[in-house]
Formats: sequence, C-alpha cells, structure tokens
Amino acid sequence: MIPIVKPYIPPKEDLMPVLEEVLYSGYIAQGEKVEQFESELINFFETKNLLTVNSGTAALHLALTLLGIGPGDEVISTPVTAEPTNTTIGLTGAKVVFADVESSTGLISASSILQRITSRTKAIVVVHYAGMVADMSEIYRISRSKGVPVVEDCAHALGASYSEKKLGYYSDFAIYSFQAIKHLTTIDGGLLIVNNSQDCSRAKKLRWFGLDKTISRAQNNISEVGFKYHMNDVNATIGLCQLKFYQNNVQKYFDHGRLLDQGIANPKVTIPEYHRSTVPAYWLYTILVDDVEGFNAYMMSHGIMASQLHKRNDLHEVFKSSLELPGVDEFYRHFTHIGCGPWLEEDIDYVIEIINKY
Ligand SMILES: *Cc1c(COP(=O)(O)O)cnc(C)c1O
Repeated sequence: MIPIVKPYIPPKEDLMPVLEEVLYSGYIAQGEKVEQFESELINFFETKNLLTVNSGTAALHLALTLLGIGPGDEVISTPVTAEPTNTTIGLTGAKVVFADVESSTGLISASSILQRITSRTKAIVVVHYAGMVADMSEIYRISRSKGVPVVEDCAHALGASYSEKKLGYYSDFAIYSFQAIKHLTTIDGGLLIVNNSQDCSRAKKLRWFGLDKTISRAQNNISEVGFKYHMNDVNATIGLCQLKFYQNNVQKYFDHGRLLDQGIANPKVTIPEYHRSTVPAYWLYTILVDDVEGFNAYMMSHGIMASQLHKRNDLHEVFKSSLELPGVDEFYRHFTHIGCGPWLEEDIDYVIEIINKY
C-alpha cells in the first residue's frame, strides 16, 4: 500500500557517523549543534529571529505564552487541523473560537475570522492545512485593521511561501514541526519564528525554565518561569543532516504535487485552487470528490492509501461549540488525501493514472 505519510531518514552512511560522533562526544544537551541548526534555518527562512524547540506543540505554546494569552481571552482558530493547534490554546486557559473554513480548500476563511473577532480576541491562529497556504493577504489585512496578531501554524507547510517568502516571514509568530511524519523530521522537534529580537530572547529563556543559557548558572536570575522545551544536540544533528538531503526529501513533495496538479484530469475529481501569490508545500495531496468513501475504497483497492487523516477538532468534547461551520461540513463531505512525498518516486505516474480512471 502506498502510504499517505512516511518518515524520511537520510542514508545510513551519511547519518550514522555524525550521530555516533555527537552521541559519544560528551555533550548531547542543547549546545553547538543546536546553534548550527538554527543558523542554517535562519538562512533558509531569511529571517533573523528564530529558535528551535522539542516539538511544534512547544513552539505553539511558547507563541501563545509570549502573547500573554490566558483565561478570559479568546483565540480564533480552525477545526480543520491536527489537535495540537487547539490543545495548546486550551492549555493557556483561553477559549478556542472556531472560524469556518473555505469549503474548497479546508483553509481558515478570512471573512469568518472577521466575524468572530470580539474585544476578547487575542490572536488568530492560521493553519496552512495539508501544506496549502491560507488567504494571507486578507488575513494580514484583518489582523492589521483589528490589531490582532497572527500565529501561523506551518506544521504542514515547510518550504511553502506567500509573496515570495517562506511562511513566517511576515507574521508575528510562526511555528514549524520536525515530528516523525512532517516534511523534515528530527525525530521530534519544532521551530518558532518571531518577528522581533526581544521576543526571541524572551522565548529562548522560556524554553529553558526561564534561565539564560548565555550566562553562568550562578549569575542567572529567573524573572519569568519557563518550560523545558529546548532542542538537544542529538536532534539538531539529525536536523543538520536532513537539511543536506532537502532535494532528496522535501523537494520531492513539491515535484510530485505539481505533477498531480498537472496530471489529474477527471470530471469526477476536483483539486483545490491555491490562493494567489502562494506556493503550497503538498504535505498531503488534497482531492475533492462526491463520494469520499467510494473513492477511498477504489484507491485502496489499487494499493494507494487515501483518507481524511484528521478528525474535525470541534467534535472533541473539550472544543464543542454551538457556532455554525457550514464550510467545515461541506469540506468534510468531499475531501480526502493521498500521499505526495519522496516514497512516491516510482509510482507517481501510476497514481495519476488510477485517479484519472476513477
Ligand atoms: C504536527 C502538528 C503540530 C505539532 O507538532 P509536534 O511537533 O508534533 O508537536 C501542530 N500543528 C499541526 C497542524 C500539526 O500537524
């Protein structure tokens, strides 16, 4: 069965020597390797202020903490996502207020965000679902006019861009995940991009109990209690090695995604339209059909895994709300996903052929 997601691990002969070296180096905590990984990420994202952490979830929680979000506040978010987008909001004590999504992409709807903003709204969390990029021009316009910051959840969207820049460049906060099945895995790990250096140094303390790593323990003074969210040198070593294999790995999602975009021609199958000035990252390939169960069964009978993968988050007891979400209802009636990553290399033509024969 061709899977929807699969971890990519660099070849043994490249990964094992560097891994062995760090493991027996006498230093495996957060150190030089983390710094190196961060400086490579600074080049990749063309941004100055970022920090690695031990998960995308930790990065989200830090972003919300930096914004001072807590009980009594509201955060606008989407139910079409993986749960950590919303459990981290829950952790702060703030209320998750679901905006509706565009029924053709599953991406958070800018007009619905505008409707949900109240005096208690402290942030808008935007998920670039399945690697498609949300309507950022509109969302930034709303954010500016209402004075509500944007937190981008780019866990599905490594390499995607808006207006010529990698996602995160224009936002107050953006997070990425290096979890097992994301585009680039450090086994577990995450990244927080922030747009100013004060937030960055505060976040660097908050990821390590509130201690400042740049001065000695004895001289340290915790002025704000933090978490244990730092990345260690072992995970960073894997990340550095993964970056060397970017073409072999992350780039393949884009190559296969574009081949699917161009190759799918079947009146019974619709593919989403991407927003202007955006380049999607194709973490999952999204397809819209009338009969989702029938299509999934057809694909699986041909050895291709197809599924919705995520449960709509508003169906979880803790996130239940009475807000109407017709776009979410409609999207869930019609969407499914297939895989798009490097493991499709040999099979991409076959996958297109099977879709076109449906
Ligand atoms: C994976 C994921 C996260 C969290 O990342 P972890 O590294 O697993 O903590 C957050 N948001 C979305 C949409 C994700 O898919």
